[in-house]
Amino acid sequence: MTAHPAATTEPTMSKNFDVIVIGAGPGGYIAAIRAAQLGFSVACVDEWKNDKGGPAPGGTCTNTGCIPSKALLQSSEHFEQAGHHFAEHGIGLANLSMDVAKMLGRKATVVKQNNDGILYLFKKNKISFFHGRASFVKQAEGGWEIAVAGAAADTLVGKHVIVATGSNARALPGAPFDEERILSNDGALRIPAVPKQLALIGSGVIGLEMGSVWRRLGAQVTVLEALPTFLGAVDEQIAKEALKAFTKQGLKIELGVSVGAIKASADGVEVNYTDAKGKAQTLAADRLIVSIGRVPNTIGLNAEAVGLQLDERGAIVVDAECRTNLPGVWAVGDVVRGPMLAHKAEEEGTAVAERIAGQHGHVNFNTIPWVIYTSPEIAWVGQTEQQLKAAGRAYKAGSFPFAANGRARALGDTTGMVKMLADAATDEILGVHIVGPQASELIAEAVVAMEFRASSEDIARICHAHPTLSEATKEAALAVDKRTLNF
Ligand SMILES: Cc1cc2nc3c(=O)[nH]c(=O)nc-3n(C[C@H](O)[C@H](O)[C@H](O)COP(=O)(O)OP(=O)(O)OC[C@H]3O[C@@H](n4cnc5c(N)ncnc54)[C@H](O)[C@@H]3O)c2cc1C
Repeated sequence: MTAHPAATTEPTMSKNFDVIVIGAGPGGYIAAIRAAQLGFSVACVDEWKNDKGGPAPGGTCTNTGCIPSKALLQSSEHFEQAGHHFAEHGIGLANLSMDVAKMLGRKATVVKQNNDGILYLFKKNKISFFHGRASFVKQAEGGWEIAVAGAAADTLVGKHVIVATGSNARALPGAPFDEERILSNDGALRIPAVPKQLALIGSGVIGLEMGSVWRRLGAQVTVLEALPTFLGAVDEQIAKEALKAFTKQGLKIELGVSVGAIKASADGVEVNYTDAKGKAQTLAADRLIVSIGRVPNTIGLNAEAVGLQLDERGAIVVDAECRTNLPGVWAVGDVVRGPMLAHKAEEEGTAVAERIAGQHGHVNFNTIPWVIYTSPEIAWVGQTEQQLKAAGRAYKAGSFPFAANGRARALGDTTGMVKMLADAATDEILGVHIVGPQASELIAEAVVAMEFRASSEDIARICHAHPTLSEATKEAALAVDKRTLNF
């Protein structure tokens, strides 16, 4: 370990670092901060540019993912509430209007606040930030030589390198993203006016969130999904409830389709597909969002030259502790195996910094929560009922509907339920699944409980404040033992 370099985000005189982090998304910037906290000299290199060409650390998450999507989900939810639900509360609004440019401007401000926050954190933690593209040059004395190509070219040497280069949207063969008519997540967050007809290919998390934003703002949204089941990774009962709610809201979801030719023109885009019954169909739309998954990103890293091993998907191969095949080179986040989630990337980044320091960083993959920020929100942790059945595990299930929860009634949002699955013999909680209001916040209690290997009885015995949505979690725990009090 060496002493910190000068407190600056400018390149320092010394270009030798204990740790060089490539990528300042949630995996990278968190790894850099944790490594600096542990006393290492740290550099972080990130190439993302804002619209003025300046640095925009935060990765996909901050710039074109988690943060801007949640900003637009919030704005569109306000519009939906004002247009359709305020009246129930006795609140009248004449001349409700929408200013998409202002909405997008607010989203950009939120993104910038996060970019600036990360630059501040780099400064605070004495991390040297380099704006540009990093690539491996060679194994050097004392570590790895990394070239930075940017406004100011540089050469750095790091004893350890943490690769956190994230992922890119996967395009459909024959239909590259033009971000005008055929949009990735990037273009989907920048549509300048509400499209009349919006087509969406892929009903995963990102597709459903983007579809929800533009439907709430007035677009007719059709989602085409190749799989025959809706949200296959989600507990079936929860997915069924969510599908019912989305359909009621007017989101048109077609399952089991096979997408054919896509033709984009100046006026719109035409999607040819075969529906589940085998009938040829054409969907004409103003814009198309393609959301069929993401590809690990190692572009420009020069991985081949130094022999950094990739798998058949292009992901960097790592062991359970995020070590690559190269000594002193680690990789975390979307560029490696596992769920493509910001908090998974952060946990891996933290754990790797701690491992470099000789500590025992740990990521528990069984307790990584998943959230879909639609309305109703969907959140879960642990095993689904179908997974437990497939594994032949004996379990007990209990669920509690928000329709029987006082706080949900007061909110006017009674869709959905909390469902708990526990081991039949030990009562250990094996999974918690929520569809309904504030599911993204409610799931935290379940994550804590599972991390401490709690039983459903533990949750059932804990005092939950009244009236809160979290009482539905307690009641679901009581339901495991068939003794709900309010249903
Ligand atoms: C629309 C959308 C919504 C999402 N919503 C959520 C959500 O609500 N919750 C959630 O958990 N996840 C969400 N995700 C997923 C989340 O964004 C990713 O899992 C997360 O960003 C991965 O973090 P990362 O650090 O691995 O990579 P990234 O965030 O992709 O960051 C990688 C960084 O590395 C930089 N980089 C790449 N190569 C180089 C190089 N050679 N040199 C220098 N810099 C380089 C890139 O410019 C980028 O800044 C969403 C994703 C999308 C697209």
